[in-house]
Amino acid sequence: MDIELSYQGLWNAVQKGEGLEGTIEFFPEEGKYHFDGHRKCGICLSPKEAEKYNGICPVCGKKLTMGVDHRIMQLSDRDEGAAAMPESGRPYESLVPLPEVVSACIGFSTASKKVQGQYEMLLEKLGAEFQVLREVPLEDIRVAGGDVLTEGIRRLRKGEVIRKPGFDGEYGKIELF
Ligand SMILES: [Zn+2]
Repeated sequence: MDIELSYQGLWNAVQKGEGLEGTIEFFPEEGKYHFDGHRKCGICLSPKEAEKYNGICPVCGKKLTMGVDHRIMQLSDRDEGAAAMPESGRPYESLVPLPEVVSACIGFSTASKKVQGQYEMLLEKLGAEFQVLREVPLEDIRVAGGDVLTEGIRRLRKGEVIRKPGFDGEYGKIELF
């Protein structure tokens, strides 16, 4: 937000979009109901695939749980991929928390001491988490955190991630490598 630092400034940004420059979000695919599917049978389908099966689970024959993506397609007046930003739209960025990036790079869980230690070291050397994820030059990240982390952050910034959409109550996964 580029606003006057006041309640009124914040209200205007949220309610009217005045000074709202854009949003920073998680990847929508991480949501528990992004694609259609049936969790019990491990079936996860894109809207188009689900339509081929008439919304019926190909394993057990029960009704698939419809996901957000499919519902958006039903409500949309545009074709998939033709989603031009409306004039009132604002840019958005999708990010993954830095501890998860570190975890993916060194192969330990986000709760581990190794990941926590590396995370704190990066904040100390490079600045706030959003700066590290979005703005710090890759060369500086390389010096502080090495080649693998640099490649992970480069991919995240470009959106070059592997998206495994959530379905029927199962969280989706975003993978960097
Ligand atoms: Zn099923």
